[in-house]
Amino acid sequence: MTIALYYDALFLEHDTGAHPEKAIRLTACVDRLAEVGLWDQVEHPNFAPAPWEALTACHDEHYLRFLQQTARRGGGYLTPDTPFGRHSFDAARLASGAAIQAVEAVLDGKFPQAFILSRPPGHHATHNQGMGFCLINHAAVAVRHLVHGRGLERVLIVDFDVHHGNGTQDIFYEDPAVLYISTHQYPAYPATGSLREVGRGAGAGFTVNVPLPAAVGDAGYARIYEQVVAPAARRFRPQFCFISAGYDAHWTDHRYLSSIRMQVSVAGFTAIVRQLRDLAEELCAGRVVFLLEGGYDPTALSGSVLATLNVLLHRPVEDPLGPSPHGWPEPDVGPLIANVREIHDLGTHSRR
Ligand SMILES: [Zn+2]
Repeated sequence: MTIALYYDALFLEHDTGAHPEKAIRLTACVDRLAEVGLWDQVEHPNFAPAPWEALTACHDEHYLRFLQQTARRGGGYLTPDTPFGRHSFDAARLASGAAIQAVEAVLDGKFPQAFILSRPPGHHATHNQGMGFCLINHAAVAVRHLVHGRGLERVLIVDFDVHHGNGTQDIFYEDPAVLYISTHQYPAYPATGSLREVGRGAGAGFTVNVPLPAAVGDAGYARIYEQVVAPAARRFRPQFCFISAGYDAHWTDHRYLSSIRMQVSVAGFTAIVRQLRDLAEELCAGRVVFLLEGGYDPTALSGSVLATLNVLLHRPVEDPLGPSPHGWPEPDVGPLIANVREIHDLGTHSRR
């Protein structure tokens, strides 16, 4: 049984004009997977747009209607950096449908894991506001479906996009059924994701933010995933893992978004994905679904997506671009790790 890849050419029809979030991001991935023969070695399930009720379980109905109707009239801008066109609502709704159907298929054992190769991305979209290139929050739609529709009690979302997933955090902020863990550059867009944002009410403690200084690379990320993400996930005991997979912490991406200054390589993403795959295998029978968020350099992105699929297939991985040549000194993440562990009580066993 092989993994499933959810992709549709409609995702290319979300027209953003001259913008870093553009269709070549996906066509580069498709071409790369075809080039190495992987395209034909994974399943390509059919899927349908998300049901309206699945969208309104996360988003304000007025917002969705506005988006749908404005798109039909040719589109517009949700924020100055978030254009959308005639096909954008349909593309976003289809991406959410892919996410729902992927988590269903993995939960039902049809595939061990799945990857959703879609755009527009989703993790900045809040309950009533699309922003940051995102229209509909696919991760939130799929995970809420697992909780409300399939009765799961504990779902883990890990978001390794270089930006904080403010929309995902917002939607689950008071929900103890969903543990949201984000590693992101901070301060940076969208200015949320501080250490002190930990959830509210019944959801207090179920949001874990790891706000990273600029210039963190493979070594720092590996330490964070080992010393914060893994113990937090183990304590939560998820029944399902959903990954907001943004690859814009790659060292090439600051050429596309100048505010990004991280130094992760394809090999570094490989280590993160391997850690997440192993956690899913340890904690929830391997059930994990990846959904593409950011990542703007077509070569780095396609290499990273290929690496992710190879990790899921337990195959060897190559890094087409190698380690960061920037030579920016890597900050010591030790004090940050200590802080996050303290705030979230992930310290020694004697403290718990
Ligand atoms: Zn991003």
